[in-house]
Amino acid sequence: MPSLVSHPDEVKVVSRRFGMGATDIDKYVELDGYKAVQQAIAKGPEWIITEMKASGLRGRGGAGFPTGMKWSFVPKQSEKPKYVLVNGDESEPGTCKDHVLFLHDPHAVIEGTMIAGLAIGSKLGFIYLRGEYRYLLKIVERAVADAYAKGFLGKNIFGTGVDFDIITQTGAGAYEVGEESALMESLEGKRGVPRIKPPFPAVVGLYGGPTVINNAETIANAPHILLMGGEAYAKLGSERNGGTRLFGISGHVERPGVYELPMGYNLKRAIYEVAGGIKDGKKLKAVVPGGSSCPVMTADEIDVGLDFDQMGKAGTMLGSGGIVVLDESVSIVEFALRTIAFYQHESCGWCIPCREGTDWIKKTLTRVYNGGGNKKDVDNVQYLAENMLGRTFCPLGDAAAMPTIAFVKKFRKEFEDYVEGHKAGTPIITVEQLVGAH
Ligand code: SF4
Repeated sequence: MPSLVSHPDEVKVVSRRFGMGATDIDKYVELDGYKAVQQAIAKGPEWIITEMKASGLRGRGGAGFPTGMKWSFVPKQSEKPKYVLVNGDESEPGTCKDHVLFLHDPHAVIEGTMIAGLAIGSKLGFIYLRGEYRYLLKIVERAVADAYAKGFLGKNIFGTGVDFDIITQTGAGAYEVGEESALMESLEGKRGVPRIKPPFPAVVGLYGGPTVINNAETIANAPHILLMGGEAYAKLGSERNGGTRLFGISGHVERPGVYELPMGYNLKRAIYEVAGGIKDGKKLKAVVPGGSSCPVMTADEIDVGLDFDQMGKAGTMLGSGGIVVLDESVSIVEFALRTIAFYQHESCGWCIPCREGTDWIKKTLTRVYNGGGNKKDVDNVQYLAENMLGRTFCPLGDAAAMPTIAFVKKFRKEFEDYVEGHKAGTPIITVEQLVGAH
């Protein structure tokens, strides 16, 4: 088990049981586990949704949609069964927070799934893990089996007459399946490509029934919110951004790791104080603040609060909380090429701007990186990316276009140095190896 990092500025809510042996159900119960769900059964769906709305919790997968509101959109009456689907398909490069959650506190995800089910009137939840997290499946499956053995899952849970079941599932390793409608297709055993929306999953979701889909961290917050009260949770964060969140800080920092910080915590402090600053005394060059799809920030742009609104105002996104720190040694051209190569590989190919756009950007950047490009190539990369924006069925097209545009706009000189000076990328790794690595 990887060692856990810690910093005094952390406010541990969702991570408070990490490292305390809470994968064991008795330990989880000793640490207030399965109390919130029993309260939820006693107080009913309206109380749950009121508390969730008051908490200001917004989706931790990246979209930032208010969770209580999402749950309230599910119709009360439905001829078809309703479902809860937990998105544990954590595939955004730079993101590793749900991984530690499943590793250290799987019962919190289970309890949160049950609470979401009670809120919307569902009797069945699915926990979907990314294919590469197959080794975590054993932990989650054992936790589910232990909950059944205690009578916390199944028929007549806690002797209350309420039924609730959970099924676990893994994917086959596609980034695209992190998109909620592609996730449902995958879970139903089909190819993981998105559905056209509307209808939205809250009305027509899994197997045609109303479905709530939430990221694993979002779901794991629900028991804590019910125990401490929505308002108290909201006060931990910033305006319109309730609570705390898990940030994975990686790259060139002294103390990389997953830290739980209040929403709105300053990004510069997160890098220089919490994660110990730039490794080996080097200079900071750039930060990708919330996973690979978020527009890059330069070193002088990072004095900003880590919440959905402040990051939006700064021209980027909070995303999935995966902060990737790049020091002065990084070639932005190579980094941009690695990024687009990933999205080109992961494009499902359904819509032309994404399928062709990512391919052409990768080809053009490869030429630039190899020292054979010209100035028009740099313009073309930006032009291609700008013409993908907003023109694709699912967010993957934007996820590929947005960082590309920011890399070229903010580091244009570096791209031009490659073409004008015919500077070729480092021969340590060939572009074929680099692209093949994805
Ligand atoms: Fe597929 Fe890309 Fe279109 Fe999404 S944007 S549907 S991944 S081709």
